[in-house]
Amino acid sequence: MTSIINHKKIEEILIDNQDNSRNKIIKIIDKAREKKGLTLEETAALLQVEDQKLIEQIFMVARNIKDEIYGDRVVLFAPLYISNKCINNCLYCGFRKDNRDLKRISLTLEEIGQQVKVIEKMGHKRILIEFGEDPRAASIEKVVEAIEAVYESGDIRRVNVNVAAVEVEDFKKLKAAGIGTYQLFQETYHPQTYEQMHPSGPKSDYEYHLTAMDRAMEAGIDDIGLGVLFGLYDYKYEVLAMLEHAIHLEEEYGVGPHTISIPRWKPAFGVDKEDIPAPVSDEEFKKLVAIIRLAVPYTGMILSTREGVELREELLELGISQMSAGSCTDPGGYKEENIKEKADAKQFRTADHRTPDKVIKGICDSDYLPSFCTACYRTERTGERFMDLAKVGEIHKFCQPNALITFQEYLEDYASRETKRSGERLISEQLRKIEDSKLRKRTKKRIEEVKEGVRDIYL
Ligand code: SAM
Ligand code: SF4
Repeated sequence: MTSIINHKKIEEILIDNQDNSRNKIIKIIDKAREKKGLTLEETAALLQVEDQKLIEQIFMVARNIKDEIYGDRVVLFAPLYISNKCINNCLYCGFRKDNRDLKRISLTLEEIGQQVKVIEKMGHKRILIEFGEDPRAASIEKVVEAIEAVYESGDIRRVNVNVAAVEVEDFKKLKAAGIGTYQLFQETYHPQTYEQMHPSGPKSDYEYHLTAMDRAMEAGIDDIGLGVLFGLYDYKYEVLAMLEHAIHLEEEYGVGPHTISIPRWKPAFGVDKEDIPAPVSDEEFKKLVAIIRLAVPYTGMILSTREGVELREELLELGISQMSAGSCTDPGGYKEENIKEKADAKQFRTADHRTPDKVIKGICDSDYLPSFCTACYRTERTGERFMDLAKVGEIHKFCQPNALITFQEYLEDYASRETKRSGERLISEQLRKIEDSKLRKRTKKRIEEVKEGVRDIYL
């Protein structure tokens, strides 16, 4: 049995923290305000809260933490599915091997280039490339070639990668290719559920999958993203186990996860809704997002287009710091004329079908600031260095100006007339909010340079 996740301990903590007095919960919420995170026991106690008034208080503190650490910024990205060929059989996934009717597609390097061009025209600067697991279509050499193709084909400035667990030597190759974050979702931390959900293929090895992040760290990738696929097992257990995983990484390597993803199970081609073992309601989902925000305040939280418009807007307030927009989950799905997916080649059904321009307009109209910044990773502010700056509040000095500068780029190059109008109003309001006058002046100057045609500048 693994030493990273102590299943018995997690189950005991959940039982021991079931019945809590109001006072105890209020004390934990007060402690969370200090932005120093929460223990497993404290997190377990909050996860058990059912009282609506207390849940409102958890939401309020999550909103404050979000605001103090991340300000109004929302970082945007698009996923790029390169291959849906897969030798695993994850029961929840449209790409699974036994889903015989799925149309299998692996993009050529030329097709990757074409997809990148379409994604760039939406204004994206960050791409998350994704593959099914397949020794031919997704060997590490193929993955590296794909990363190179994305960087070479134009203006994408950061490529994050979500690809199957590999050995240290192969992680070193990913690092050398210049990846941003390496993401891998544990799907479920519960061993028996993991076994049921992954009946065959290399991914069925729970332990090997779980220790992937240790191998990535050993290979020098200090920017990693954890995740759980909510809907497979009790969400309370999953949140605690993911927190234990984060604590393990922090203790062992001095740096916890850079991001946490919170995909929720969605219907997929060849996967029935009835198959979902432990559905998570919208209310539970909002609660768990807010609690993660309290438990690991400095870890970015990523939300995909699996969720619908209204819920995405609510979750943004409760702690989300990154969002995808305009996504397709089938290889080759991005098209100039529309962004409709091919139903029979995609991984799952998305729920937010707005164009990125509409998503961005929505973000501006809610007074959030869309950011296309990729500066930290390009100036090597990653891993421990990033966390050190973030924890003393210094990261604001970079993030806010860079968000404004890169958003101005978006407005100049890609925005519709309405979005440009909303965006320019937002930028002048946000500029006024920068208290340090020197920093405000520097930022203004950069924004003017962008208006005059200079590109890719940052602090
Ligand atoms: N094949 C790699 C792997 O499994 O680690 C890459 C990941 S896959 C392309 C991206 C993620 O999509 C999976 O890790 C899983 O959490 C999620 N996913 C799969 N099927 C899903 C579904 N039906 N609904 C929502 N998310 C799903
Ligand atoms: Fe393959 Fe990943 Fe889908 Fe599993 S989740 S079937 S490994 S693509």
